[in-house]
Amino acid sequence: MTNILVVEDAVRIASFIVKGLQAHGYSLTHVESGEEALRLLQAAQFDLVILDIGLPGIDGFEVLEQLRGSGNDVPVIVLTAKDSVDNTVASFEGGADDYMSKPFSFEELLARVRRRIKIPTDSNQETSLTHGNIELDLRTRRVHVDGKSHDLTAREFTMLEFFLRHPGQVLAREQILSRVWGFDHDPGSNVVDVYIRYLRQKLGNDSISTVRGMGYRLD
Ligand code: CA
Repeated sequence: MTNILVVEDAVRIASFIVKGLQAHGYSLTHVESGEEALRLLQAAQFDLVILDIGLPGIDGFEVLEQLRGSGNDVPVIVLTAKDSVDNTVASFEGGADDYMSKPFSFEELLARVRRRIKIPTDSNQETSLTHGNIELDLRTRRVHVDGKSHDLTAREFTMLEFFLRHPGQVLAREQILSRVWGFDHDPGSNVVDVYIRYLRQKLGNDSISTVRGMGYRLD
């Protein structure tokens, strides 16, 4: 699963990007400020960042500068409100990989995204995901742990699949919320913690670690 972070304060544009790319098999996380973006980019791994320049608080240029300053070389596509030569030059000098001016079509966005990252592999061919003593059957949507089988609810299945595609990686609560509950989740909700408890009951208490202040990791 390819993880894309969208940093955009305009809700309609963010929703357009998130829903469109999700429909093409990408995993999307959305934040509305540069501060949140930098915090998430420290805590979790992304394959691509779509970064708006005009943000409340610190702007996209500042986010890019801090990101590159910290040695993070994740591909970044910058979005700006109008086709400004100054913004284009500043974006590339700041370390952006690509640039799009609003408004843009979804096809244009998708073409640029595909140029920056690999097209997700067709997961229809896979029948199971395995990590350690955990095997998730993608057809029956049951999990086998040390030879014992457990049924999973739809949310538990989606969450476990997400973990199994990123073993050993810290997944931030916001990433899990976006992936499992979709775009219209309540960021203050504790559903992620509740479902982590459900999964631990089925997989064993040591299966998923809590990484304080960052998120969760499948060990
Ligand atoms: Ca904006």
